Amino acid sequence: MKIRKEDYKKGYLILVNYNHFYTQIPENISVFSPNFPNIKLENEALINLKKALQEISAKDCIIPISGYRTEKEQRKLYHTSLKENGKDYTKKFVAKPSTSEHQTGLAIDLGKNIENFDFICPSFPNYGIFKKFREIAPEYGFIERYTEEKKNITKIAKEEWHFRYVSYPHSKIMTELHFCLEEYIEYLHEFSYPTNPLKKYGYKIFFLPLQEEIELDLKQNDCISGNNKDGFILTIKEEENAT
Ligand SMILES: [Zn+2]
Repeated sequence: MKIRKEDYKKGYLILVNYNHFYTQIPENISVFSPNFPNIKLENEALINLKKALQEISAKDCIIPISGYRTEKEQRKLYHTSLKENGKDYTKKFVAKPSTSEHQTGLAIDLGKNIENFDFICPSFPNYGIFKKFREIAPEYGFIERYTEEKKNITKIAKEEWHFRYVSYPHSKIMTELHFCLEEYIEYLHEFSYPTNPLKKYGYKIFFLPLQEEIELDLKQNDCISGNNKDGFILTIKEEENAT
């Protein structure tokens, strides 16, 4: 399989933030369900989100509030919020166009199922089924993206309703090591391909710096993702009976 240099802007581990922009149109976007025709998400993220919600029987309690947004929608949201909520609030909770994870199709805002929910800051408390969702999310490839302790790095205030799909086992490793995505992307630089993998949960993970073209022999369960910064992350599932 040939990996092209420009593909570093694609994949489940792309970093999108105030200084790493996302200007593409993502592939494989699907509608959440007939009940939520306006909520869209990338296919694999959607399948895993539904599995997670099903595991805790959250159907009637947790609803999707906002998923994939086009650049135009993000722009509109940003400017409407500026007008209605002012600069301070908007800066805190609404990303500028092309710096929002929602444009990747990999981010979902979830909320408590109440009639008049807040679109920008929905309620997603830290008890009961909401807490349960938070606990199992990493098993399904999701992380709570914006926490209080990391806001100096992410430049986004705590958003307990915003979950980002990064895929398994990355979600689990980030949670275990208390890394936000910015920190995790940096941390992975240590694990250079092919000699020095990060070995976790039955996977080997490598970093490959940007090159014109990389030729890799990938197996079915292997996965490669750009980091939208300076390279690729290769995730290889170890053989079942390997030691
Ligand atoms: Zn969000």
